[in-house]
Amino acid sequence: MIPTPNLSHLTRKDYEHVYEPAEDTFLLLDALEADKDFLRRRNPRICLEIGSGSGCVSAFLGAVVGQNNSLYCCTDINPHASLATQATGQQNNANDHRRYRCLGLVDILIFNPPYVPTEVEEFTLGQQQVDISGAWAGGNDGMNVTEHLLRQVKALLSPSGCFYLVAVSQNKPVEIMQRMEQEYGLLSKTVLSRRAGREHLHVLRFQVQ
Ligand code: SAM
Repeated sequence: MIPTPNLSHLTRKDYEHVYEPAEDTFLLLDALEADKDFLRRRNPRICLEIGSGSGCVSAFLGAVVGQNNSLYCCTDINPHASLATQATGQQNNANDHRRYRCLGLVDILIFNPPYVPTEVEEFTLGQQQVDISGAWAGGNDGMNVTEHLLRQVKALLSPSGCFYLVAVSQNKPVEIMQRMEQEYGLLSKTVLSRRAGREHLHVLRFQVQ
């Protein structure tokens, strides 16, 4: 069993500005652990997490695939989250987190997006970093941010790359998978699904080959 990253450096005050790991985060960790042989076999060199929040997921991925040969890049629209991710990397002995141009190079791409369907106004406020609603407010069908990334996934991935996406049922995960297969030729699979309160969460995996 791979331990959950140490987040003891993050306080209540941090979580007023940064998404606190929740059921969706833990489902994603469980999916990565369930896929550990698949991931290790791919011997990833570059891993990119978009919307890294506390940094919990990338620190966990580091424990799954190992720190020595892989570069972990994280990005988040929220500057508090970027600082939290960096601190979590240091706390968990992860290697450097920086920004790189990653087109065609990413072996493992991860996004737990703001997936909750909301009014456009709430989505816009979140994306303007007015409040922490940017962590969950996903606009129409909860897909506004995810749609941007879906159009770029194929271009970001390396020839052996794969992509993990968290989705709720309102995001229409089956349609997402069909679309990614038809439009981009990506193989897709649901790694894990779980009900958490009112949400039905899914972790989808897409791969080039
Ligand atoms: N990865 C963390 C986890 O699983 O606990 C956080 C997930 S939280 C549901 C979504 C994250 O995406 C937030 O940290 C939020 O700030 C970030 N985010 C929202 N819109 C974004 C965008 N346009 N680009 C990058 N990150 C974004």
